[in-house]
Amino acid sequence: MTVARTIIVFTITVSLVTFIAFFGRLPAFRNTPIGFLNRLFLVYIPSAFRRLDLKLTNGRVTDSGSRLGHYLMHDKHPLVVVFFLGLVTACATLFLPTVWHLLRPHHKLLVGLLLPQPYIFLYLSAKRNNHTYINTLNHAEQMRHYPYDRVLYYPGTACRTCKFFKPARSKHCSICKTCVSRMDHHCIWVNNCLGRGNYKWFLALLLSTGILIAYGAYLAYYTLSPLVQKHYSKYEAWYEYSPKVGVNPQSWGAYFDKKKHYSLAYTSIYLDIGGVRGSGVGLLALFTWPLPLGLLAYHIYLIWAGMTTNESAKWADWGEDMADGVVFLGHRREETMQEYRPTASTRSYQTNHSAHSSSSTSPFPTPPDTPPEDEEPPTTWPLESRHILIRTLDGQPPKTLPSRIRSVAKEDSFDRVWNLAAVENVYDLGFWDNIIEVLLN
Ligand SMILES: [Zn+2]
Ligand SMILES: [Zn+2]
Repeated sequence: MTVARTIIVFTITVSLVTFIAFFGRLPAFRNTPIGFLNRLFLVYIPSAFRRLDLKLTNGRVTDSGSRLGHYLMHDKHPLVVVFFLGLVTACATLFLPTVWHLLRPHHKLLVGLLLPQPYIFLYLSAKRNNHTYINTLNHAEQMRHYPYDRVLYYPGTACRTCKFFKPARSKHCSICKTCVSRMDHHCIWVNNCLGRGNYKWFLALLLSTGILIAYGAYLAYYTLSPLVQKHYSKYEAWYEYSPKVGVNPQSWGAYFDKKKHYSLAYTSIYLDIGGVRGSGVGLLALFTWPLPLGLLAYHIYLIWAGMTTNESAKWADWGEDMADGVVFLGHRREETMQEYRPTASTRSYQTNHSAHSSSSTSPFPTPPDTPPEDEEPPTTWPLESRHILIRTLDGQPPKTLPSRIRSVAKEDSFDRVWNLAAVENVYDLGFWDNIIEVLLN
């Protein structure tokens, strides 16, 4: 019984720690116990340990530790990928030979179909992808995918490392050392950034891994249950015929004690019959299948909301500042929007035209502050933001606007906003169109 209990506690602890370590940093868990535990393990305890080490050994222990920590957290390395693939491979190698002779042909076929999928999708997520990484060759094309919303992204922001204007929705990754198109997040499970080109493969990886693990747990139950049931009946009869001294058999305490006894007995018999290879792997699968599927559910929520993980953090920051009453919402002047902005050809025509004619009666208003074409080229995106957000330090309406906002904003159009519902998310086309955008780009 103690072995069963140890294995259960161990499996639950491993599942929980994995969950907290990898998902606790998500903005969705920011103000929850999971977010706190993540910070406790990754920030508070290491920094307390560092302070102690500075006092005791002048920081010698943590210096070597932090070099390793820096390598693990900030360098591109395949350790986590190797761990993940190793775990899947080891579990399959232990589990399948144990139960294979008990499987019906259609289960054998399904195993053959499901097992390779995480490997394929991991490869596709991890491999270098030209639609994800921005370079000088594809930069012009990347600039035309999304407009700048002037809430999360502004035109004219340069990446100091890559030496070009950052396209809207992109972010520089210090681990991959490149700007990433439609940056979602840098994922250590695939040792790569997830962006415009490979995000769909990451979703497929989550789905296929979740299904494979859940199916493994089901197979363990399906193959071992008939064998367990026989032994369990014997055990149940024995337990019923051995009355406990001084315990009222009708009480709740006795009821829960019996339940606990039976569930531990059940697990123990499973482990006796299936061993670590069959039941141990099955139990691990039972506790871990919600992890990839839970993360997939979170990403489906992000797609529904028209956000990336990176943007959800930025929106959360705006939301917190709005609740503090320091955010003001303004409106753009129409002539600064793509629909009304002259294209490169009409603009050069106007320049030539006005040079030859003193009375220019151009139908296109050309505000002097409109960003140059290479800073904000026309995009293929069907929506354009009409809003501008600004935070002020003193919580008072903005008196002087920064030039990049003054050049596009209607004057005196700034009103205080208290929640995100008042602001348009230009990257949200509606759930189905968002899905199509993610899957087909
Ligand atoms: Zn960059
Ligand atoms: Zn990266």
